[in-house]
Amino acid sequence: MIRPVCRDTVLLSKPAEKATNADLQTARDLSETLLANAQRCVGMAANMIGVPKSIIAILPPGTKMPLVMLNPQIIAKSGEYDAEEGCLSLPGERPAKRYRVITVKWQDMSMRPQKRKFEGYTAQIIQHEIDHCQGILI
Ligand SMILES: [Zn+2]
Repeated sequence: MIRPVCRDTVLLSKPAEKATNADLQTARDLSETLLANAQRCVGMAANMIGVPKSIIAILPPGTKMPLVMLNPQIIAKSGEYDAEEGCLSLPGERPAKRYRVITVKWQDMSMRPQKRKFEGYTAQIIQHEIDHCQGILI
């Protein structure tokens, strides 16, 4: 189900709770909502559809199906740089500190643990969405 996008910065500033298999419907809704906004958005976190759980969905460049991560965590990072980013929930572009290469641990839609290294723009999207899960806005 496509959900409305939350722009309430008070709600968006609250850290999300751990996601469980009871949250898989939210994960599917997040994925559908991201696809519905794909022309102006490459990633979303569950609190952007009003659910304060640690779930993100991203659309890496050149892909058509969102990659959904439950409880994503960055376990290694390198290559700090200054980025300028926009956010579907916020007006304008703002500065952010990012890392070029990150290693992420998460659970997939079957609650199986996953671990992968990401670089460049995909890594940047993931960092932005994990910040949302921690209540951090750019
Ligand atoms: Zn955002």
